[in-house]
Amino acid sequence: MRQYFQILILMLSLVSCQPSEKQILISPKKVDISPEYAIVIHGGAGTIDKNNMDVATEKAYHETLNQALDAGENILKSGGKSIDAVVAAIKVMEDSPLFNAGKGAVFTHDGTNELDASIMTGDSQMAGAVGSVTTIKNPITLARAIMEQSDHVMMIGKGAEAFANKCKLDIVDPSYFYTEKRWNSLQKILKDDNNKIQLSEDEKGNKKHGTVGCVALDKSGNIVAGTSTGGMTNKRYNRIGDAPIIGAGTFADNNSCGVSCTGHGEYFIRYTVARDIAALMEYKGLSLRSACDTIVYKKLVAKGGEGGLIAIDKYGNIEMPFNTSGMYRGWAKDSKREVKIYKD
Ligand code: ASP
Repeated sequence: MRQYFQILILMLSLVSCQPSEKQILISPKKVDISPEYAIVIHGGAGTIDKNNMDVATEKAYHETLNQALDAGENILKSGGKSIDAVVAAIKVMEDSPLFNAGKGAVFTHDGTNELDASIMTGDSQMAGAVGSVTTIKNPITLARAIMEQSDHVMMIGKGAEAFANKCKLDIVDPSYFYTEKRWNSLQKILKDDNNKIQLSEDEKGNKKHGTVGCVALDKSGNIVAGTSTGGMTNKRYNRIGDAPIIGAGTFADNNSCGVSCTGHGEYFIRYTVARDIAALMEYKGLSLRSACDTIVYKKLVAKGGEGGLIAIDKYGNIEMPFNTSGMYRGWAKDSKREVKIYKD
């Protein structure tokens, strides 16, 4: 009998020595004191060469990125929700012709503009996504409506537009998305396809990248991530990239982080980039920085996937890694702010 008790006591002591599941799974390093709130945005990663950027355009990018940060930060500062901040920041970039989303969306092979967007909230892990819409002024608002006002995660094309109509969102004529710059880019690429001209590396880069995104952490600790894009210039057959794919271009989980991606979407879909960052933190206990480094600088580079992402963890740490020459980006927290375009 005594022997049995001894074995039982030994077993109980062994069990109590084991770290709890929580200790094993979630141990990202707390890098600094948690801020009250944090917000990070991107306006696309790609071949962005300082030598090819004129002063006025560079200034316009800085101004619009700052306006987007203002829109989101004002909401967070006054105790508002991260979902409202993310939508507000993304709307500013969607309304600007500078970025490949909303107004500045790139053209498809057929000369149309097909827009994709998604949003996810880290508390309930509810998500909304929209693909291939042509008449929605702010696709991020439709992604949000799908998340909040339907039982679904993703809607595409005409059906999604009918839902937007029902939700009384801003509908525009497809011609609203015409911009001369994007139209000319398409014409150049079409000529390149016919081997009529040789595109510069810069133009090839622009052919691939664009997109806007925002991740925010509010005062109640909720993380929301959103992404919006026109996709890739000259895309065909209703091609849809990573931006509206939850787990590829967008992901949020309050136990790990929120992520919004930009880059060559096919790679981000195949390697489930946004979810992978969160999974490395959740299952392997990596910090946000090492998770981002592992995916953006090691895995994606090894596979040939160009692009970048923005991310915030539950402590308010911010990362903005990219493996291209530049990424339009900015962040704000603790009354500090930074807006950047090129590598340091
Ligand atoms: N990721 C987007 C797509 O593949 C494009 C981009 O971010 O530039 O549709």
